[in-house]
Amino acid sequence: MKTDLSQKLFQKALTLFPGGVNSPVRAFRSVGMTPLFIARAKGSKIFDVDGNAFVDYVGSWGPAILGHANVEVIREVDEQLKNGSSFGAPSPKEIQLAELVRERAPWIEKMRFVSSGTEATTAAIRLARGFTGRDDILKFDGCYHGAGDPLLVKAGSGVETLGLPDSPGVPADVARHTLTLPYNDLPAVQKLLAERGPSLAAVIVEPVVGNMGVLIPRPGYLQGLLDACRQQGTLLIIDEVMTGFRLAPGGACELHGLRPDLVTFGKVIGGGLPVGAFGGRPDVMDRIAPAGPVYQAGTLSGNPLAMAAGIATLRQLGKAQYDRLEALGSRLQAGLVEAASAAGAKVQVNRVGSMITVFFSSEPVFDAASARKADTKKFARYFKVMLENGIYLPPSQFEAAFLSVSHTDEDVEVTVAASRKAFAEAALA
Ligand SMILES: *Cc1c(COP(=O)(O)O)cnc(C)c1O
Repeated sequence: MKTDLSQKLFQKALTLFPGGVNSPVRAFRSVGMTPLFIARAKGSKIFDVDGNAFVDYVGSWGPAILGHANVEVIREVDEQLKNGSSFGAPSPKEIQLAELVRERAPWIEKMRFVSSGTEATTAAIRLARGFTGRDDILKFDGCYHGAGDPLLVKAGSGVETLGLPDSPGVPADVARHTLTLPYNDLPAVQKLLAERGPSLAAVIVEPVVGNMGVLIPRPGYLQGLLDACRQQGTLLIIDEVMTGFRLAPGGACELHGLRPDLVTFGKVIGGGLPVGAFGGRPDVMDRIAPAGPVYQAGTLSGNPLAMAAGIATLRQLGKAQYDRLEALGSRLQAGLVEAASAAGAKVQVNRVGSMITVFFSSEPVFDAASARKADTKKFARYFKVMLENGIYLPPSQFEAAFLSVSHTDEDVEVTVAASRKAFAEAALA
Protein backbone atom coordinates (compact mmCIF):
# COMPACT_ATOMS: atom_id res chain seq x y z
CA MET A 1 0.00 0.00 0.00
CA LYS A 2 1.45 3.33 -1.10
CA THR A 3 1.30 6.01 1.61
CA ASP A 4 3.92 8.54 0.41
CA LEU A 5 1.59 11.54 0.29
CA SER A 6 0.02 10.81 3.69
CA GLN A 7 3.47 10.54 5.20
CA LYS A 8 4.59 13.79 3.64
CA LEU A 9 1.48 15.59 4.90
CA PHE A 10 1.93 14.10 8.35
CA GLN A 11 5.51 15.45 8.55
CA LYS A 12 4.15 18.89 7.73
CA ALA A 13 1.26 18.47 10.19
CA LEU A 14 3.75 17.65 12.94
CA THR A 15 5.17 21.17 12.57
CA LEU A 16 1.70 22.71 12.88
CA PHE A 17 -0.29 20.61 15.34
CA PRO A 18 0.71 18.90 18.59
CA GLY A 19 1.33 15.28 17.60
CA GLY A 20 0.33 16.20 14.06
CA VAL A 21 -3.42 15.98 14.68
CA ASN A 22 -6.40 17.92 16.00
CA SER A 23 -7.75 15.09 18.16
CA PRO A 24 -5.50 12.45 19.76
CA VAL A 25 -6.83 9.05 18.63
CA ARG A 26 -6.44 10.08 14.98
CA ALA A 27 -2.66 9.86 15.33
CA PHE A 28 -2.58 6.02 15.06
CA ARG A 29 -0.06 5.95 17.93
CA SER A 30 -1.55 3.00 19.79
CA VAL A 31 -1.14 0.84 16.68
CA GLY A 32 2.42 2.08 16.15
CA MET A 33 1.67 3.73 12.80
CA THR A 34 1.15 7.18 11.32
CA PRO A 35 -2.24 8.36 10.10
CA LEU A 36 -3.63 8.31 6.57
CA PHE A 37 -4.84 11.65 5.26
CA ILE A 38 -8.34 11.32 3.88
CA ALA A 39 -9.22 13.06 0.63
CA ARG A 40 -12.90 12.16 0.32
CA ALA A 41 -15.58 9.71 1.33
CA LYS A 42 -18.76 8.35 -0.20
CA GLY A 43 -21.22 5.84 1.25
CA SER A 44 -19.32 3.15 3.17
CA LYS A 45 -15.96 3.99 1.55
CA ILE A 46 -13.18 6.45 2.31
CA PHE A 47 -10.32 7.34 0.00
CA ASP A 48 -6.94 8.60 1.14
CA VAL A 49 -4.71 11.14 -0.61
CA ASP A 50 -2.56 8.35 -2.09
CA GLY A 51 -5.59 6.90 -3.85
CA ASN A 52 -6.17 3.92 -1.53
CA ALA A 53 -9.81 2.96 -0.95
CA PHE A 54 -11.16 1.45 2.26
CA VAL A 55 -14.38 0.13 3.72
CA ASP A 56 -14.81 2.60 6.57
CA TYR A 57 -15.75 1.43 10.08
CA VAL A 58 -14.84 4.70 11.82
CA GLY A 59 -17.69 6.69 10.29
CA SER A 60 -16.25 9.94 11.63
CA TRP A 61 -16.36 8.21 15.07
CA GLY A 62 -20.11 7.81 14.94
CA PRO A 63 -21.91 10.56 13.03
CA ALA A 64 -21.85 8.90 9.58
CA ILE A 65 -24.75 6.51 10.24
CA LEU A 66 -26.14 7.07 6.75
CA GLY A 67 -22.73 6.67 5.15
CA HIS A 68 -20.65 9.56 3.81
CA ALA A 69 -21.81 12.36 1.52
CA ASN A 70 -25.47 11.41 1.73
CA VAL A 71 -27.37 13.17 -1.07
CA GLU A 72 -30.26 14.39 1.11
CA VAL A 73 -27.86 15.83 3.67
CA ILE A 74 -25.92 17.57 0.91
CA ARG A 75 -29.13 19.02 -0.52
CA GLU A 76 -30.46 20.36 2.80
CA VAL A 77 -27.09 21.83 3.80
CA ASP A 78 -26.53 23.36 0.38
CA GLU A 79 -29.94 25.01 0.43
CA GLN A 80 -29.34 26.48 3.88
CA LEU A 81 -25.84 27.64 2.95
CA LYS A 82 -27.27 29.81 0.20
CA ASN A 83 -29.53 31.48 2.76
CA GLY A 84 -26.80 32.16 5.28
CA SER A 85 -24.88 29.86 7.58
CA SER A 86 -25.29 31.58 10.96
CA PHE A 87 -27.55 34.30 12.31
CA GLY A 88 -27.02 34.41 16.08
CA ALA A 89 -30.80 34.62 16.32
CA PRO A 90 -33.56 32.00 16.53
CA SER A 91 -34.29 30.25 13.22
CA PRO A 92 -37.00 27.73 12.27
CA LYS A 93 -34.69 24.75 11.73
CA GLU A 94 -33.94 24.62 15.48
CA ILE A 95 -37.60 23.84 16.08
CA GLN A 96 -37.69 21.23 13.32
CA LEU A 97 -34.70 19.33 14.70
CA ALA A 98 -35.96 19.62 18.29
CA GLU A 99 -39.33 18.17 17.26
CA LEU A 100 -37.61 15.28 15.47
CA VAL A 101 -35.69 14.61 18.69
CA ARG A 102 -38.76 14.78 20.94
CA GLU A 103 -40.83 12.53 18.64
CA ARG A 104 -38.13 9.87 18.95
CA ALA A 105 -37.30 10.42 22.61
CA PRO A 106 -40.41 11.88 24.31
CA TRP A 107 -38.55 12.01 27.66
CA ILE A 108 -36.60 14.93 26.15
CA GLU A 109 -39.34 17.43 26.87
CA LYS A 110 -37.01 20.39 26.69
CA MET A 111 -33.52 20.63 25.27
CA ARG A 112 -30.70 22.95 24.35
CA PHE A 113 -28.53 22.65 21.26
CA VAL A 114 -24.77 23.12 21.52
CA SER A 115 -21.93 22.38 19.09
CA SER A 116 -20.28 19.21 20.46
CA GLY A 117 -20.78 16.27 22.77
CA THR A 118 -18.23 17.73 25.16
CA GLU A 119 -20.24 20.92 25.46
CA ALA A 120 -23.40 18.91 26.09
CA THR A 121 -21.96 16.80 28.91
CA THR A 122 -20.13 19.72 30.53
CA ALA A 123 -23.31 21.79 30.57
CA ALA A 124 -25.40 18.85 31.81
CA ILE A 125 -23.03 18.44 34.77
CA ARG A 126 -23.21 22.15 35.57
CA LEU A 127 -27.00 21.99 35.33
CA ALA A 128 -27.19 18.98 37.64
CA ARG A 129 -25.00 20.78 40.16
CA GLY A 130 -27.03 23.96 39.86
CA PHE A 131 -30.32 22.08 40.17
CA THR A 132 -29.35 19.95 43.18
CA GLY A 133 -27.04 22.41 44.93
CA ARG A 134 -24.51 19.55 45.27
CA ASP A 135 -20.92 19.36 43.99
CA ASP A 136 -19.92 15.70 43.59
CA ILE A 137 -20.51 13.55 40.53
CA LEU A 138 -20.03 9.84 39.86
CA LYS A 139 -18.75 8.41 36.61
CA PHE A 140 -17.57 4.96 35.60
CA ASP A 141 -14.07 3.76 34.86
CA GLY A 142 -13.59 3.66 31.10
CA CYS A 143 -16.61 5.81 30.21
CA TYR A 144 -15.73 8.86 28.15
CA HIS A 145 -17.93 11.93 28.27
CA GLY A 146 -15.84 14.39 26.28
CA ALA A 147 -12.79 16.40 27.21
CA GLY A 148 -14.32 18.66 29.89
CA ASP A 149 -12.38 19.08 33.16
CA PRO A 150 -14.73 17.33 35.59
CA LEU A 151 -15.07 14.32 33.27
CA LEU A 152 -11.40 13.70 32.46
CA VAL A 153 -11.00 11.16 35.21
CA LYS A 154 -10.65 7.47 34.25
CA ALA A 155 -11.92 8.53 30.85
CA GLY A 156 -11.50 5.61 28.46
CA SER A 157 -10.30 5.39 24.87
CA GLY A 158 -8.12 8.41 24.00
CA VAL A 159 -6.72 8.73 27.47
CA GLU A 160 -6.51 4.95 27.82
CA THR A 161 -4.76 4.54 24.50
CA LEU A 162 -2.06 7.03 25.40
CA GLY A 163 -1.70 5.57 28.90
CA LEU A 164 -2.19 8.90 30.67
CA PRO A 165 -3.56 8.28 34.17
CA ASP A 166 -5.42 11.59 34.38
CA SER A 167 -4.76 14.83 32.56
CA PRO A 168 -2.32 17.44 33.80
CA GLY A 169 -4.11 20.79 33.77
CA VAL A 170 -7.19 19.46 35.52
CA PRO A 171 -6.97 20.95 39.02
CA ALA A 172 -6.99 18.41 41.85
CA ASP A 173 -9.75 20.51 43.41
CA VAL A 174 -11.93 19.80 40.38
CA ALA A 175 -11.02 16.12 40.03
CA ARG A 176 -11.71 15.39 43.70
CA HIS A 177 -15.41 16.04 43.06
CA THR A 178 -15.46 13.26 40.44
CA LEU A 179 -15.91 9.85 42.03
CA THR A 180 -15.42 6.73 39.92
CA LEU A 181 -16.61 3.14 40.14
CA PRO A 182 -16.37 0.14 37.80
CA TYR A 183 -19.03 -0.07 35.07
CA ASN A 184 -21.68 -2.81 35.41
CA ASP A 185 -21.36 -3.11 39.21
CA LEU A 186 -24.76 -2.02 40.53
CA PRO A 187 -24.25 -3.00 44.20
CA ALA A 188 -21.17 -0.71 44.32
CA VAL A 189 -23.29 2.22 43.11
CA GLN A 190 -26.10 1.44 45.53
CA LYS A 191 -23.60 1.38 48.40
CA LEU A 192 -21.96 4.66 47.36
CA LEU A 193 -25.30 6.40 46.90
CA ALA A 194 -26.49 5.19 50.31
CA GLU A 195 -23.38 6.67 51.92
CA ARG A 196 -22.79 9.82 49.87
CA GLY A 197 -26.06 10.42 48.04
CA PRO A 198 -26.74 13.78 49.73
CA SER A 199 -23.53 15.21 48.22
CA LEU A 200 -23.95 13.65 44.75
CA ALA A 201 -25.40 15.95 42.08
CA ALA A 202 -25.31 13.42 39.25
CA VAL A 203 -24.34 10.00 38.04
CA ILE A 204 -23.27 10.05 34.39
CA VAL A 205 -23.04 6.88 32.30
CA GLU A 206 -22.62 5.65 28.74
CA PRO A 207 -25.67 3.35 28.56
CA VAL A 208 -23.80 1.05 26.17
CA VAL A 209 -20.12 1.88 26.46
CA GLY A 210 -18.33 2.61 23.21
CA ASN A 211 -15.29 4.44 24.48
CA MET A 212 -13.56 1.48 26.13
CA GLY A 213 -14.49 -0.64 23.15
CA VAL A 214 -18.07 -1.89 23.29
CA LEU A 215 -19.19 -2.91 26.80
CA ILE A 216 -22.74 -4.18 27.21
CA PRO A 217 -24.80 -3.27 30.29
CA ARG A 218 -25.98 -6.20 32.40
CA PRO A 219 -29.76 -6.75 32.52
CA GLY A 220 -31.27 -4.34 35.05
CA TYR A 221 -28.09 -2.29 35.46
CA LEU A 222 -29.32 0.95 33.91
CA GLN A 223 -32.76 0.87 35.53
CA GLY A 224 -31.01 0.02 38.82
CA LEU A 225 -28.87 3.15 38.47
CA LEU A 226 -31.95 5.27 37.86
CA ASP A 227 -33.81 3.81 40.86
CA ALA A 228 -30.80 4.26 43.16
CA CYS A 229 -30.36 7.87 42.00
CA ARG A 230 -34.05 8.75 42.46
CA GLN A 231 -33.95 7.58 46.10
CA GLN A 232 -31.26 10.19 46.79
CA GLY A 233 -32.45 13.06 44.59
CA THR A 234 -29.34 12.54 42.45
CA LEU A 235 -29.84 13.11 38.72
CA LEU A 236 -28.94 10.34 36.28
CA ILE A 237 -27.38 11.66 33.07
CA ILE A 238 -27.56 9.13 30.26
CA ASP A 239 -24.80 10.10 27.85
CA GLU A 240 -26.18 9.10 24.47
CA VAL A 241 -23.62 11.07 22.45
CA MET A 242 -22.59 7.81 20.77
CA THR A 243 -25.71 5.66 21.16
CA GLY A 244 -28.39 8.30 20.49
CA PHE A 245 -30.27 7.74 17.20
CA ARG A 246 -27.80 4.91 16.50
CA LEU A 247 -29.10 1.96 18.52
CA ALA A 248 -32.78 2.85 18.05
CA PRO A 249 -34.80 6.00 17.26
CA GLY A 250 -34.86 6.73 21.00
CA GLY A 251 -31.30 5.46 21.54
CA ALA A 252 -30.25 3.18 24.37
CA CYS A 253 -33.03 4.63 26.55
CA GLU A 254 -35.60 3.16 24.18
CA LEU A 255 -33.83 -0.22 24.07
CA HIS A 256 -33.77 -0.40 27.87
CA GLY A 257 -37.15 1.23 28.58
CA LEU A 258 -35.50 4.03 30.56
CA ARG A 259 -37.12 7.37 31.34
CA PRO A 260 -34.11 9.34 32.56
CA ASP A 261 -33.84 12.88 33.98
CA LEU A 262 -31.20 14.20 31.61
CA VAL A 263 -29.75 12.95 28.34
CA THR A 264 -26.85 14.22 26.23
CA PHE A 265 -26.52 13.86 22.47
CA GLY A 266 -23.88 14.50 19.82
CA LYS A 267 -22.47 12.69 16.77
CA VAL A 268 -25.50 11.33 14.79
CA ILE A 269 -27.71 14.28 15.81
CA GLY A 270 -25.52 16.55 13.66
CA GLY A 271 -25.23 14.23 10.68
CA GLY A 272 -21.53 15.10 10.31
CA LEU A 273 -21.79 18.76 11.25
CA PRO A 274 -21.06 20.02 14.77
CA VAL A 275 -24.18 19.54 16.92
CA GLY A 276 -24.62 18.43 20.50
CA ALA A 277 -27.66 18.64 22.75
CA PHE A 278 -28.73 18.08 26.31
CA GLY A 279 -32.29 17.79 27.47
CA GLY A 280 -34.84 16.03 29.63
CA ARG A 281 -37.18 16.94 32.46
CA PRO A 282 -38.64 20.43 31.96
CA ASP A 283 -38.30 21.39 35.64
CA VAL A 284 -34.57 20.62 35.40
CA MET A 285 -34.05 22.21 31.98
CA ASP A 286 -35.83 25.39 33.04
CA ARG A 287 -32.95 26.07 35.43
CA ILE A 288 -30.89 26.96 32.33
CA ALA A 289 -30.44 30.64 31.42
CA PRO A 290 -32.39 32.67 30.43
CA ALA A 291 -35.27 30.66 32.01
CA GLY A 292 -33.16 30.04 35.12
CA PRO A 293 -29.84 30.94 36.74
CA VAL A 294 -27.52 28.20 35.40
CA TYR A 295 -25.50 29.84 32.66
CA GLN A 296 -24.88 28.25 29.28
CA ALA A 297 -24.43 29.94 25.90
CA GLY A 298 -22.86 29.52 22.44
CA THR A 299 -22.32 31.75 19.41
CA LEU A 300 -22.90 28.87 16.99
CA SER A 301 -25.50 26.96 19.06
CA GLY A 302 -28.50 25.89 16.95
CA ASN A 303 -26.53 26.93 13.88
CA PRO A 304 -28.88 26.55 10.89
CA LEU A 305 -26.35 24.75 8.70
CA ALA A 306 -25.71 22.13 11.38
CA MET A 307 -29.46 21.88 12.09
CA ALA A 308 -30.06 21.19 8.38
CA ALA A 309 -27.63 18.26 8.44
CA GLY A 310 -29.22 16.88 11.61
CA ILE A 311 -32.74 17.19 10.22
CA ALA A 312 -31.83 15.47 6.95
CA THR A 313 -30.12 12.68 8.90
CA LEU A 314 -32.82 11.93 11.46
CA ARG A 315 -35.53 12.04 8.79
CA GLN A 316 -33.86 9.21 6.89
CA LEU A 317 -33.62 6.93 9.92
CA GLY A 318 -36.69 4.72 10.30
CA LYS A 319 -37.45 1.16 11.29
CA ALA A 320 -36.10 -0.23 8.02
CA GLN A 321 -32.73 1.44 8.63
CA TYR A 322 -32.41 0.16 12.20
CA ASP A 323 -33.41 -3.35 11.06
CA ARG A 324 -30.79 -3.15 8.34
CA LEU A 325 -28.08 -2.05 10.82
CA GLU A 326 -28.98 -4.95 13.11
CA ALA A 327 -28.87 -7.45 10.24
CA LEU A 328 -25.50 -6.15 9.04
CA GLY A 329 -24.13 -6.11 12.58
CA SER A 330 -25.21 -9.63 13.34
CA ARG A 331 -23.76 -10.89 10.06
CA LEU A 332 -20.45 -9.12 10.71
CA GLN A 333 -20.28 -10.45 14.26
CA ALA A 334 -20.94 -14.04 13.17
CA GLY A 335 -18.33 -13.72 10.42
CA LEU A 336 -15.69 -12.34 12.77
CA VAL A 337 -16.31 -15.02 15.40
CA GLU A 338 -16.01 -17.73 12.75
CA ALA A 339 -12.86 -16.18 11.20
CA ALA A 340 -11.17 -15.86 14.62
CA SER A 341 -11.95 -19.40 15.57
CA ALA A 342 -10.67 -20.73 12.23
CA ALA A 343 -7.41 -18.82 12.79
CA GLY A 344 -7.10 -19.94 16.39
CA ALA A 345 -7.30 -16.34 17.68
CA LYS A 346 -8.80 -15.89 21.14
CA VAL A 347 -11.23 -12.97 20.89
CA GLN A 348 -14.43 -11.59 22.34
CA VAL A 349 -16.71 -9.88 19.85
CA ASN A 350 -18.93 -7.42 21.73
CA ARG A 351 -21.76 -5.87 19.74
CA VAL A 352 -24.94 -3.90 20.18
CA GLY A 353 -26.66 -3.05 16.88
CA SER A 354 -24.20 -1.19 14.67
CA MET A 355 -21.47 -0.80 17.36
CA ILE A 356 -18.89 -3.58 17.52
CA THR A 357 -15.47 -4.31 19.07
CA VAL A 358 -13.17 -7.31 18.70
CA PHE A 359 -11.25 -7.67 21.98
CA PHE A 360 -8.11 -9.79 21.85
CA SER A 361 -8.91 -11.55 25.09
CA SER A 362 -9.87 -15.07 26.06
CA GLU A 363 -12.21 -13.89 28.82
CA PRO A 364 -15.52 -12.01 28.71
CA VAL A 365 -15.12 -8.22 28.57
CA PHE A 366 -17.74 -6.30 30.56
CA ASP A 367 -15.91 -3.44 32.30
CA ALA A 368 -12.71 -1.41 32.05
CA ALA A 369 -10.61 -3.88 34.06
CA SER A 370 -11.56 -6.83 31.85
CA ALA A 371 -11.07 -4.69 28.71
CA ARG A 372 -7.55 -3.76 29.85
CA LYS A 373 -6.60 -7.45 29.80
CA ALA A 374 -6.91 -7.41 26.00
CA ASP A 375 -3.68 -7.91 24.06
CA THR A 376 -3.04 -4.54 22.38
CA LYS A 377 0.00 -5.91 20.48
CA LYS A 378 -2.19 -8.48 18.78
CA PHE A 379 -4.78 -5.80 18.09
CA ALA A 380 -2.12 -3.57 16.47
CA ARG A 381 -1.07 -6.42 14.18
CA TYR A 382 -4.69 -7.16 13.29
CA PHE A 383 -5.37 -3.48 12.59
CA LYS A 384 -2.38 -3.18 10.25
CA VAL A 385 -3.26 -6.27 8.20
CA MET A 386 -6.89 -5.14 7.95
CA LEU A 387 -5.79 -1.72 6.72
CA GLU A 388 -3.49 -3.28 4.12
CA ASN A 389 -6.48 -5.31 2.95
CA GLY A 390 -8.71 -2.30 2.50
CA ILE A 391 -10.51 -2.19 5.85
CA TYR A 392 -10.32 1.02 7.89
CA LEU A 393 -11.00 0.22 11.56
CA PRO A 394 -10.70 2.54 14.58
CA PRO A 395 -6.94 2.62 15.31
CA SER A 396 -7.29 1.51 18.94
CA GLN A 397 -8.30 -1.63 20.81
CA PHE A 398 -10.50 0.54 23.00
CA GLU A 399 -12.87 2.01 20.42
CA ALA A 400 -16.10 0.88 18.80
CA ALA A 401 -16.32 0.22 15.06
CA PHE A 402 -19.48 1.53 13.40
CA LEU A 403 -21.64 0.25 10.58
CA SER A 404 -23.73 2.59 8.44
CA VAL A 405 -26.83 1.95 6.38
CA SER A 406 -24.59 2.37 3.32
CA HIS A 407 -22.54 -0.71 4.18
CA THR A 408 -23.37 -3.61 1.88
CA ASP A 409 -23.42 -7.35 2.40
CA GLU A 410 -20.37 -7.40 0.14
CA ASP A 411 -18.55 -4.93 2.42
CA VAL A 412 -19.17 -7.32 5.30
CA GLU A 413 -17.94 -10.32 3.28
CA VAL A 414 -14.76 -8.50 2.27
CA THR A 415 -14.22 -7.53 5.91
CA VAL A 416 -14.63 -11.09 7.13
CA ALA A 417 -12.28 -12.38 4.41
CA ALA A 418 -9.61 -9.81 5.41
CA SER A 419 -10.13 -10.83 9.05
CA ARG A 420 -9.23 -14.44 8.29
CA LYS A 421 -5.76 -13.26 7.25
CA ALA A 422 -5.50 -10.62 9.97
CA PHE A 423 -6.49 -12.98 12.81
CA ALA A 424 -3.93 -15.54 11.62
CA GLU A 425 -1.17 -12.91 11.65
CA ALA A 426 -2.32 -11.45 14.97
CA ALA A 427 -2.15 -14.90 16.55
CA LEU A 428 1.62 -14.88 15.80
CA ALA A 429 2.18 -11.36 17.28
C1 LIG B 1 -17.73 11.35 21.51
C2 LIG B 1 -18.35 11.34 22.86
C3 LIG B 1 -18.41 12.50 23.64
C4 LIG B 1 -17.74 13.78 23.21
O1 LIG B 1 -18.31 14.34 22.08
P1 LIG B 1 -17.43 15.38 21.20
O2 LIG B 1 -18.40 15.81 20.14
O3 LIG B 1 -16.27 14.62 20.70
O4 LIG B 1 -17.06 16.48 22.10
C5 LIG B 1 -19.09 12.45 24.84
N1 LIG B 1 -19.68 11.32 25.26
C6 LIG B 1 -19.65 10.18 24.54
C7 LIG B 1 -20.35 8.96 25.05
C8 LIG B 1 -18.97 10.14 23.32
O5 LIG B 1 -18.91 9.01 22.63
